[in-house]
Amino acid sequence: MEIHNESLRLKNAAYKLRLPTSNGRETILAFHGTKLECHLSAFGPNGNLCSKSTCSVCSICHNNFKKSLSGSNITFLRFGHGIYFSVHSAKSHDYNYRSDRGGTRCLIACDVTIGRTSPTSDDMQNLQAPPSGYDSVTGVPGRSLNYPETVVYEEDAVLPRFLVFYKSDVRGSY
Ligand SMILES: [Zn+2]
Repeated sequence: MEIHNESLRLKNAAYKLRLPTSNGRETILAFHGTKLECHLSAFGPNGNLCSKSTCSVCSICHNNFKKSLSGSNITFLRFGHGIYFSVHSAKSHDYNYRSDRGGTRCLIACDVTIGRTSPTSDDMQNLQAPPSGYDSVTGVPGRSLNYPETVVYEEDAVLPRFLVFYKSDVRGSY
C-alpha cells in the first residue's frame, strides 16, 4: 500500500536541501518494523489509516517518526537516540509485533536520506546526533550486529513510502 503524505514529502525535500552539498543527498529505501494495532491491511475491506495514538504504523503515516519515542519499546539502542532502519526486512521483522497472534504484520518502507553516512561496527549508545561531519550512521554486520542497520537523527530525514503487509507467527526478538 502506497502512502501519500504531501506535508512529510515537503519536509523531506527541505531536509535534503539543508544537507551540505559536499555530503551528497543519498537516499535509500529501507524498512522499519513497529507495532500495528488496527486491522489496516492491503487486503482488508478498507485501506484507511486509523487514528489510535497507540497504533505506531498509522501514527507514523500521519505524522512521521518521533525521535522522542525512539527506544520507548526497546531498551538497547546500539547507535544512540535515533530512528532505526534496515535494508533487510528480516532485521525489521524482529521489531514489529502485534498483541493478537496470527494477525497481519506490517513493515514500513521509507525513503531514508542518509547523506554522508558513518560506517561502524562499534556500538555508540550515547549518540544524540550523527558523528561530526556525517548525517547518519550505518552499522556494519559483524561482532554483535547480525544485519546492517542505518540510523538517522532527524525526523525529516525520513519519508514513509509504502506499507508491506504479511502474515507471520514467527516471533521477533522483542
Ligand atoms: Zn492503525
